[in-house]
Amino acid sequence: MQPIRNVLVVGGGTAGWLAAGFLARTLGTAGGGIAVTLVESKEIGIIGVGEGTFPSIRGTLSILGIDEGRFIRECNATFKQGVRFNHWVRPPGTPGADHYFHPFSQPSQRPGGPELLPYWLMGAAGPDVPFAAAATMQKHVADMRHGPKRTTDADFMGPLNYAYHFDAGAFAALLAAHAQTLGVRRIEATVDQVKLGASGAIAAVVTREAGELAADLYIDCTGFRARLIGEALGSPFRNINDTLFVDRALAMQVPYDRLDAPIPSYTISTAHEAGWTWDIGLHERRGIGYVYSSRHTNDDRADQLLRQYIGPASDGREPRMLKLNVGYRETQWKKNCVAIGLSGGFLEPLESSGIGLIEAATYLVSYLFPYDGNLAPAAKLFNGQMKARYERIVDFVKMHYCLSQRTDNAFWIENAHASTIPESLREQLSMWRSRPPHRLDFVTDIEMYPPSSWQYVLYGMEFPTQQLAHRAALPDLAAAQREFQTIAQLSHHALADLPAHRALVEHYRARGTRAAQPARRLYV
Ligand code: FAD
Repeated sequence: MQPIRNVLVVGGGTAGWLAAGFLARTLGTAGGGIAVTLVESKEIGIIGVGEGTFPSIRGTLSILGIDEGRFIRECNATFKQGVRFNHWVRPPGTPGADHYFHPFSQPSQRPGGPELLPYWLMGAAGPDVPFAAAATMQKHVADMRHGPKRTTDADFMGPLNYAYHFDAGAFAALLAAHAQTLGVRRIEATVDQVKLGASGAIAAVVTREAGELAADLYIDCTGFRARLIGEALGSPFRNINDTLFVDRALAMQVPYDRLDAPIPSYTISTAHEAGWTWDIGLHERRGIGYVYSSRHTNDDRADQLLRQYIGPASDGREPRMLKLNVGYRETQWKKNCVAIGLSGGFLEPLESSGIGLIEAATYLVSYLFPYDGNLAPAAKLFNGQMKARYERIVDFVKMHYCLSQRTDNAFWIENAHASTIPESLREQLSMWRSRPPHRLDFVTDIEMYPPSSWQYVLYGMEFPTQQLAHRAALPDLAAAQREFQTIAQLSHHALADLPAHRALVEHYRARGTRAAQPARRLYV
């Protein structure tokens, strides 16, 4: 076994620079530490989308030692408190709620106090109050266009849970600049060939501009190309298009009508006949895209629908078309090569899992780092954990589709068909018909999304849980009702305490960069 001292990251998108910077920060590059080199191609660009994140990103930025003000300023970033889902339950023009909200903050629960969901199901929060509005003040705060934190709160901290929206290209550039200050060496070159040794492991990569580069461990961050893990090592790709149908995206950047317009602090996901649009408000522009199934619509109709959604601001602009490989590799760590980012897999960005998976994979490589060269046990653990994560995300994303009452297109009808729903999800849904989801239903170490996210989406989608048999067994009705009232009152008081979202963003943009703070581990 050869000790692992040199790591070569191939690819310089979000995955490559995040992995390189994180490994340099956590493993140390100075004085006998690990040498981390990143090679990226000048000719092959980055994917340039991926603007919505999950709260785990705050922990990652904090560990990397990136100041929150600098991040917000340089990445054109705004705060994200959740996702608003328009027309997912039923099509426009149909009686009933036309949207629901998936907030990042957990339902309120006082120490020793009741868990609110069973009481909400009994109607204890009042008629027609959505679970997300009853259980946390975040929906109200976000609806009123206020931010999740005060200007006096410490970096990456705040009373409400949050993530960010940002410009993907600017984020990769910030990560690149920062990673190099952490000791990562950058080489600009295109990998043309991957040489394998007698054992089948990678012996070197051959580049057009910088010759042969050899390392002990290779991190494949070459995006959809998967130049190392796929093309060279042949790790099979598991396509899951029979479960998650969308396989194309049209993306456009659109200016605001007014520069002082309020910015929503949530992603707006609107369901359409054959997919959904994302609408993300950055500081200086909106990022909008239509993700759709090419089996259920065509590109011209998709273009028309995207333009209808955007309105006159789309005139004279051409969207970028992206063909998507939906699925993942079950073996993402093979021999001496680990795939991180799109080379390992891609699931539609409905709940912003892409960057979260990059973070998860990077933490795992760091914690499992095989200094002594004993790669097989680390690879086995890594592959098991990443596969489980992907499977859980597939279930979570599919849940958004299969609970829809929409029947206006074959896309929605087929999405609700049992044959397209993974058995694991069908089993959970069948349990949750007679009792609500509980945190003990989840193996939290491999879940990207906490139990509360499942609950918000489940009941946002108006899932019917019949818990009549349990009613008599709910002893804390009065305490739960008091808690619901307190949350409603606090939601109103919070508006005086939490600044308007745009003002909060402007504050961070104007603030000077603070001296590097000690790394803190949050939400990881
Ligand atoms: P890329 O950005 O494609 O980078 C690949 C890198 O590899 C580039 O630097 C390229 O130069 C280099 N490279 C390739 N081949 C070679 C070679 N032969 N030699 C040298 N270098 C090479 N994720 C989220 O978390 N939230 C979202 O909202 C979200 N939305 C998305 C929307 C769409 C439509 C898509 C497609 C993805 C979305 N994602 C989202 C996923 C997210 O964009 C990616 O996970 C993220 O950008 C990481 O990409 P990457 O670094 O793996 O690949």
